[in-house]
Amino acid sequence: QPAREEQAPAKPGVPGIRHIVAVASGKGGVGKSTTTANLALAMAANGLRVGVLDADIYGPSVPRLFNVSGRPEADSGRVLKPLVGYGIKVMSMGFMVEEETPMIWRGPMVISALTQMLREVAWGDLDVLVVDMPPGTGDAQLTMAQQVPLAGAVIVSTPQDLALIDARKGLNMFKRVDVPVLGIVENMSYFLCPDCGGRHDIFGHGGARAEAERLSVPFLGEIPLTMKIRETSDAGTPIVVSDPEGAMAEIYKDIATKV
Ligand code: ADP
Repeated sequence: QPAREEQAPAKPGVPGIRHIVAVASGKGGVGKSTTTANLALAMAANGLRVGVLDADIYGPSVPRLFNVSGRPEADSGRVLKPLVGYGIKVMSMGFMVEEETPMIWRGPMVISALTQMLREVAWGDLDVLVVDMPPGTGDAQLTMAQQVPLAGAVIVSTPQDLALIDARKGLNMFKRVDVPVLGIVENMSYFLCPDCGGRHDIFGHGGARAEAERLSVPFLGEIPLTMKIRETSDAGTPIVVSDPEGAMAEIYKDIATKV
């Protein structure tokens, strides 16, 4: 009987939080944070009580996406009160440090900061806490996936082969720590041209769906590359709040029901 390489640590749940769902990607820049924010807002629009934990310690985008800033206050205990953006409770390392301050922390500090943001924050009662994971599948990510009591993980990928290979690594990382993969989302799936109204498959198309089938994990949906998604997320008014009845919001809401 070979010894298990790593003993799974105890992962006590967080009182009041029903499900913790990670959003991850194998590499940066594929739109993981944009997807996290819009999915969280879509879950809220679908009637759930939602929180967002920005675990992307080295490149926190949640403050900008939810247009919230400032320092969280501690209540009577030493528990921090999350900030609120568009009705969603959010906590991010971005609230604790200046924007230009580089986070030059090693793994153990990242883990203790994350544990604190998870367990020493007054999240209250939530149906879902969505965790924006740091990109990649390194040691920090693995430990994080091990320490957070995750109900499951959503993998965001773009359609290109390269991004998919990285997504596959992400998938295997969660497998290693026995976290179920809830499915793959294909972001920047195709380009919707605002001028000609046409659809262009810039990065090829359907790669993530084929990959999901190959790996026997659910395919959750396709999000197009649009000016509107880029502009609204960079302006801190994600498309699900700025155009709640639009076609893009419907896509996110549909994916949210499958998570
Ligand atoms: P990641 O979290 O993977 O690093 P971000 O969510 O920060 O990626 O997205 C990177 C950039 O791409 C941002 O400027 C964002 O506005 C943009 N972006 C993400 N998804 C889309 C999309 N579907 N259409 C257009 N722009 C997008």
